[in-house]
Order: sequence, then C-alpha cells, then structure tokens
Amino acid sequence: MTNTAEFRDLTTLRVGGSISDFREPTTRADLIETFRDVSSAREPWLILGGGSNIVVSDEPFDGTVIHVTTRGIDRHIDGDRVLVTAQAGEPWDALVEWTVANGLAGLEALSGIPGTVGGAPIQNIGAYGAELADTFESLQFVPPRRGDVVTLRPDALNFGYRQSSLKDGLDGLVVSVTFALTPSETSTPIQFEQLANALGVPLGATVALAEIRRAVLELRASKGMVISDDPDSVSVGSFFTNPIVSEELSRSLPADAPRFSLRTERAPLIVPLGIEPDFADFDTEPAGVKLSAAWLIERAGIAKGFSLAGSEAALSSKHTLAIINRGNATADQVLELARFVTIRVHDTFGVVLEPEPTMIGFD
Ligand SMILES: Cc1cc2nc3c(=O)[nH]c(=O)nc-3n(C[C@H](O)[C@H](O)[C@H](O)COP(=O)(O)OP(=O)(O)OC[C@H]3O[C@@H](n4cnc5c(N)ncnc54)[C@H](O)[C@@H]3O)c2cc1C
Repeated sequence: MTNTAEFRDLTTLRVGGSISDFREPTTRADLIETFRDVSSAREPWLILGGGSNIVVSDEPFDGTVIHVTTRGIDRHIDGDRVLVTAQAGEPWDALVEWTVANGLAGLEALSGIPGTVGGAPIQNIGAYGAELADTFESLQFVPPRRGDVVTLRPDALNFGYRQSSLKDGLDGLVVSVTFALTPSETSTPIQFEQLANALGVPLGATVALAEIRRAVLELRASKGMVISDDPDSVSVGSFFTNPIVSEELSRSLPADAPRFSLRTERAPLIVPLGIEPDFADFDTEPAGVKLSAAWLIERAGIAKGFSLAGSEAALSSKHTLAIINRGNATADQVLELARFVTIRVHDTFGVVLEPEPTMIGFD
C-alpha cells in the first residue's frame, strides 16, 4: 500500500500540495535502501527533513518523498577534539542542546535553528556569527541510483554563505553529519555584536555555553525565529539571502546602506623596477560587497507586517526578511508576495534578491 501525505502538514510554512508516494523509513539501513530503490526507479524524488527551508507549490507532487526521521548521536575522542556524529533525522536543535549539556563547544550560537541535522549542511546554516562550516568535519552521503555510501569532506562541499555544492546541484542523501567540537564549558569567542550586547560582554569574549544558548534562544524568539505558537514563526525563516554585489553597485546605494566588504586583506604585489610583472598568482577578481536584504526591503517602502490585498501571506511583524503564512496562505500567495518584494527592491536599488529556501514545483 502506498502512503500519501500533504506538504502543508510537513513544512513550517504550512503550504504545498499532496504527495502521492510518501516513505518514512525509521532506521539508517532502511533509509539508505529506500533511497537507493526510489532514486533508481523513478523521478521525481525529494528528500524532506524538517521542512523548514522548502517552499512547495500547491499542485500535487507526482513523485516520491522520503521523509528523514533517523535519530542518534555518537561521539568519539580524537586527540584534543571530540568528533560528534548525528544521524540525518536528528532535530538540529536537539543536537545543539546535547552538545551544550555535554560540555562541547562549537555549535552553541546555532541554537534554535529549526530542521534536521541532514538539512543543515545543504545551505551551511548560520546565525549570530557562526556557521555550520566552522565545525564541520565530514558527512556520509549516498549518490542517487544505487550509489555506495561515501564520506564527503569540506573540500567536496564548497561551503559559502547559505551555500554548498549540495544546494548547487550535488544530488543525493545525507545520511549523517560529523562535527569536530572542543571539550569546554565556555563558548568559542562571540563574533556577533547583538549577541555580545545581549550578554553584556565585549565582542570576542567567551561565556558559559549554556549562557550563549539561553541568549540566542531569547534573541531568536523576539524575532519569531524559533518554531513556537508565535504566528510570526510560521515561515521558512529568512526568505531572502543578503545579496552580494559589486563594489561599483554598492557605491550607488544611499550612504546609510549597511555594507560588508568581502575583500580579504592581501599583501600588495611588489614588482622590482625593470622586471616584467607576473599577475598569474595575483587575484584580480573584483571583491563583492554583502548588503542587508532587510534594509533594502524596508527602504524600498515595504514595512514589517506588509501583505498584498486579499492575501494570507505577509511579512513577519518582527522580521522583514521572513514571509509568514497567516493561516490559509497558498504557495502561490507566498510567491506573489516574494515577487512583489523582489521587483520593488530591484526597481528602487537595482539589486536582485534571491530566495533562500529550496523552491519545488514552480516554473
Ligand atoms: C523560524 C525559522 C528560523 C530559521 N532560522 C535559520 C537561521 O538562523 N539560519 C539558517 O541558516 N537557516 C534558518 N532557517 C532555515 C532552516 O531551518 C534551515 O535551513 C534547516 O537547516 C533546514 O533543514 P530541514 O531539515 O528543515 O530541511 P528541509 O526544509 O526539509 O529541506 C531543505 C532542503 O534540504 C534538502 N534535504 C533535507 N534533508 C536532507 C538530507 N538528509 N539529505 C539530502 N538533502 C536533504 C531537501 O531536499 C531540501 O532541498 C530557519 C527556518 C525557520 C522556519
């Protein structure tokens, strides 16, 4: 018998159509076998974790969805580090809570991010000055169509800002993820001003792991960024990434636009007189500048809480970057609002906003 399900019951934005073939293997071996069978037999297939970074269309999904629910956390000591491996279906925040309770530093600033461990490397989750790549050691991965389980290390994954090869065309199943953590009751140095301020310490300070976790959870809750009964948390978190543009375009923006240069300091190229300069090893690529998507949206005249007439999709009343479902929004309404915001920002500043979540079933 084939099981059916609804995307709206499996995603945090609560939109999306029906699923005609829904699989929910419960053990690691079953998960791998199911994935091998499904990915060699038919298209399309989709792997679903916590459904917290995916927007699916209202149309029926004519394929197979594999819901990842495998659990388990193991550790082993490797010199002065502890390697912690979690199965893909483990809720991300349960892993963070476990590391904090066990005196392992490295993941504490990523407290409260929804979703699963297997979903976390897809966009290299990040918040409050930390990102998954900081402590990532490796992951176990199965390529489609009867592939073997392989171990992928950072060089195969090209982690960047909300980016990885897994989001950028490397299809397959993440079975488990391993992190290299530091045994310590105190945190790694705080890299984010708002978090330092909330704790009343300077940037770069370290405090107890549990203190970081508490402060991050409080900050996130105040922005509707933890899943709770707050109507502002019925979202995929940030709908847009912060755009990275050329220095030239960034200079055309108003003086008070937040800008973060991505140029890394490098030594000047010194060429002795009379010698032909060799630029081969000298990176002449123009550096990018990261802008604040929230600032661009607000300054394009779209305020928190905004919605289009007759639509159940709206911007969160606490966070301009989150699109929320106020109750009965359709995926089409979510997309309509996203398009409106994108066009308005483009018309005002010439900057193109990109969606952060995976979009499924849209043209
Ligand atoms: C309130 C809220 C706050 C958020 N805050 C943040 C934040 O601060 N920082 C941040 O980076 N993100 C944030 N997010 C986004 C989201 O929580 C993360 O991206 C999360 O890691 C997604 O995991 P998931 O299991 O829910 O993935 P899903 O939404 O289920 O899937 C997302 C993508 O990953 C793929 N995928 C999932 N699991 C696997 C697997 N095992 N193997 C292969 N592919 C897989 C899916 O096919 C899909 O393409 C937030 C979301 C919400 C709702």
